[in-house]
Amino acid sequence: MKAVKKSKKLDNVCYDIRGPVVEEADRMERDGIDIIMLNTGNTAPFNLNAPDEIIQDIKYNMKTAEGYCNSQGIFSARKAVVQHYQTKGLMDLKVDDVFLGNGVSELILFCMQALLDNGDEILVPAPDYPLWSAAVNLSGGNAVYYTCDEEDDWNPNLSDIASKITPNTKGIVVINPNNPTGALYPREILEGIVDLAVENDLIIFADEIYDRILYDDNVHIPMSTLTEDVLVVTLNGLSKSHRIPGYRVGWMILTGNKEGAKDYIEGIKMLSNMRMCSNVPGQHAIQTSLGGYQSMNDLLKPGGRLYEQREIVCKRINAIPGLSCVKPKAGFYVFPKIDTEMFNITSDVQFALDFLKEEHVLMVQGTGFNWPHPDHFRIVFLPHPEDLIETMDRLERFMATYRQE
Ligand code: PLP
Repeated sequence: MKAVKKSKKLDNVCYDIRGPVVEEADRMERDGIDIIMLNTGNTAPFNLNAPDEIIQDIKYNMKTAEGYCNSQGIFSARKAVVQHYQTKGLMDLKVDDVFLGNGVSELILFCMQALLDNGDEILVPAPDYPLWSAAVNLSGGNAVYYTCDEEDDWNPNLSDIASKITPNTKGIVVINPNNPTGALYPREILEGIVDLAVENDLIIFADEIYDRILYDDNVHIPMSTLTEDVLVVTLNGLSKSHRIPGYRVGWMILTGNKEGAKDYIEGIKMLSNMRMCSNVPGQHAIQTSLGGYQSMNDLLKPGGRLYEQREIVCKRINAIPGLSCVKPKAGFYVFPKIDTEMFNITSDVQFALDFLKEEHVLMVQGTGFNWPHPDHFRIVFLPHPEDLIETMDRLERFMATYRQE
């Protein structure tokens, strides 16, 4: 048989959160080595479980969830999404403007595939959540990176964004709160992005999946509330806030200038129809999740697990010579900086592999998030405090002698 090759469409697609370092970790685990997994934002392995009432709802509705449903999702769930955004001031949102998906991931692919022709450009933050770049490239577009400034709390640099806009630019991705940096953008930055989008007729893709994971009384400003003039595609879901990433529940809402985007919206509908519908049992979790008491908040206040875990990781990293990190305002990731000269680091993949092999901790190198320099890595602070303390002990020990050849 002739060698079977992967499609050329995948040539520029990279998704390192599950890449070569992870493959090595899998191999080590098969050899019986215990690895501390700090590489994905998967809540379940760390006893951060779904609220019981959500599981009850899904079980209760299991029988009615047997069949395919409307390709945009069941009415009650989409209505709950509409009502959720009404409380944020979006009074014109209709049930038809809501698309449910198998997680935000599927919807990211839909909104890029329905839009891009070869050579079209999408502005993507560096660092990014790498599915965005992958989806742009898979759809034939080019991801053009704008910088987020570590010295400015990892906020997007507006003049860098402006300098990257070309006649081929179709849209801009804004991940707020941000993975991997934990940044939460202030109003003036968001308004600056809106101004650039309006001036240059760009669609705004607002990935807001961490908008209910905020520390220190921070407030999230939804992009959709800031403009009527351009199309805003907002993506969100229950994987993080309700700790059910395995149930694959996400949604996308379309707001702003929908009139000018009718054809594009038809394209998104076509892609939704082609996959029939998203996981119906999971859709039954939406109404309960968005109403009433939000148990996530207990984890985020002082004394709550996520709050305390963030404290441990940030304090310890900033105390290690050659490492520093900006304290996250949201989410459950930190993106520490490495003094590359001090450790002679030229490859962050090598750094992640060396740490894995020596200390049995898996984290993701910064270039896996399309960060252009080998001087960062991402840590997920979901594990229990005692495991994070152990991880930080190992990191401290490792950095004390590390030098890359
Ligand atoms: N967007 C961001 C910024 C994420 O961090 C993630 C998952 O980690 C996703 C989207 C995908 O989430 P899901 O497909 O589980 O809804």
